[in-house]
Amino acid sequence: MFDIDKFIDERTLTVSVKNKGLNYGLGCFEGIRGFWNDRKKQLYLFRLEDHLNRFHQSGKSIFIPVPYSVQELSNIIRRLLLLNETKSDVYIRPICFKGTNTIRPDLNDPFNHLSIYTVFTDYEPKPALKTGISSWARVGSNMIPPQVKPTAGYLNSALAINEADLNGYDTAIFLTAEGYISEGPAENIFIVQGNKVLTPPVSDDILAGITRDTAIQILQQELGLPTMEKSFTRVELYEADEVFFTGTALGIKPVIEVDRRIIADGTAGAVTLRIQQIYNQMVRCELPHYQSYCFPLY
Ligand code: PMP
Repeated sequence: MFDIDKFIDERTLTVSVKNKGLNYGLGCFEGIRGFWNDRKKQLYLFRLEDHLNRFHQSGKSIFIPVPYSVQELSNIIRRLLLLNETKSDVYIRPICFKGTNTIRPDLNDPFNHLSIYTVFTDYEPKPALKTGISSWARVGSNMIPPQVKPTAGYLNSALAINEADLNGYDTAIFLTAEGYISEGPAENIFIVQGNKVLTPPVSDDILAGITRDTAIQILQQELGLPTMEKSFTRVELYEADEVFFTGTALGIKPVIEVDRRIIADGTAGAVTLRIQQIYNQMVRCELPHYQSYCFPLY
């Protein structure tokens, strides 16, 4: 639909009501963040290449191939941000979706739309979250692949978030169909038990998040705490010393309540706060040994 160098005001954009991507949720997307460093007067895109590689993996998995290479996507994003003269924190959303208008819900036709837009809102301003286990199980690996980011998978997330809203929680935690802790609607989860740190393995129907990987590196390299990728249950969550979420949109976020059970003393834990502090410096390119993760715009 769009030329590689065509930038359009979103108010002039039209997609047919017959669009198959819209009708059946046939698409895949990414969520990338840029962090403004006021001291350096620079915008840094965090782990851009990793996000764009995952975008390609998503498209490949569900037969909606992303029509541009990682390098081309990176250039488009760069030009979009420059065009908008972006000098603040920003969230970037590439989305690729089926472009045909036919009724049959197949994935065979090769015509896909790509769009990339940016937003500037704070996704989750609360400093710590009260959560509840969702009555909706995480969508299984053999249903809609949770290891990548298909748009249709986010009905599962939306149902859990909506239920959490109705129950007065900030957000939800999914169990797998087998009853193990899986992840949040758009976040990975970690628990601290004494000097052990656990996070569910990919086989527990999670997206192996880029922030999860970053947190594992911080834990190992900066705090000397290796993370065990191991299944755990909701009771282990209730009894943990610390629980935290990781995700591009909300960074490192303490979870202080699960199903009305207060975690430890009900405040953000020391390990969580330390990871958060290091992560917040890392994404603004203030840590020289992690500079390769920061893609400068200007
Ligand atoms: N799980 C799901 C379902 C997600 O949508 C996200 C957000 N991309 C995450 C976990 C966290 O992944 P990341 O750290 O790569 O943003």
